[in-house]
Amino acid sequence: MKQKIEIIQGDITKLAVDAIVNAANNSLLGGGGVDGAIHRAAGPKLVAECATLMGCRTGDAKITAGYKLPAKHVIHTVGPVWHGGSKGEPELLRSAYRRCFQVADENGLQSIAFPAISAGVYGYPMAQACEIALQEAKIALETYPALERVVFVPFNEQALRIYQETFARIFCQGDE
Ligand code: ADP
Repeated sequence: MKQKIEIIQGDITKLAVDAIVNAANNSLLGGGGVDGAIHRAAGPKLVAECATLMGCRTGDAKITAGYKLPAKHVIHTVGPVWHGGSKGEPELLRSAYRRCFQVADENGLQSIAFPAISAGVYGYPMAQACEIALQEAKIALETYPALERVVFVPFNEQALRIYQETFARIFCQGDE
C-alpha cells in the first residue's frame, strides 16, 4: 500500500494527476498561497466555475475542471484556521482530507495530489497537519481499491523532512 504514496517537493500546479487539491477559503473565489498559484496556472475559467459552487464549508470539498493545469481536475477543500488546537481543528482537517478522497472516488479518479492543507496562512503546525494527512491517506487506500496514487507536495525542504519522517513512522514501522 505504501508504494502508492509519493512525496514530491515542489509546485503542485506542475503535476499531471487526475486531481490536485486546493487549500481554498470558504468563498472559493481565490486567495493567496497555493490557492493563488492554482488559479494563476489554471486561468480565469477556474474562478468562473468556482463562482457557481456557492462556496465551501470548512472540512468539505468540491470538484471543478483543471482548465490550463496539467491536472484534469481541482478538488477545492477548506481546512481549519489554527486557533491553538482545541477548537475542533484536528477533526476539521481530517474531514477536509476525507472529503477530498471521497469526492475523488465518486468521480472515478485514481491519482490525487495534496498540498499541506491549513499549514500555510491558516497556521496549522506542519508536523501535526502532516500526521493527519498521512493517516487519512492510509485509511483512503484501505477504503478505495481504485485509488492508485497519492502524492504529497511539501513546498520547502523543512516540510519535506517532516513528510518523510512521518511517512516512515506511519507506513514503515515493523518493516525489515
Ligand atoms: P492555508 O490557508 O490552508 O494554510 P496556504 O496556501 O497558505 O493554505 O498554505 C498551504 C501550504 O501550501 C503551505 O505549506 C505553503 O507553503 C504551500 N504552498 C504554497 N504554494 C504552493 C504550491 N505552488 N505548491 C505546493 N504547495 C504550495
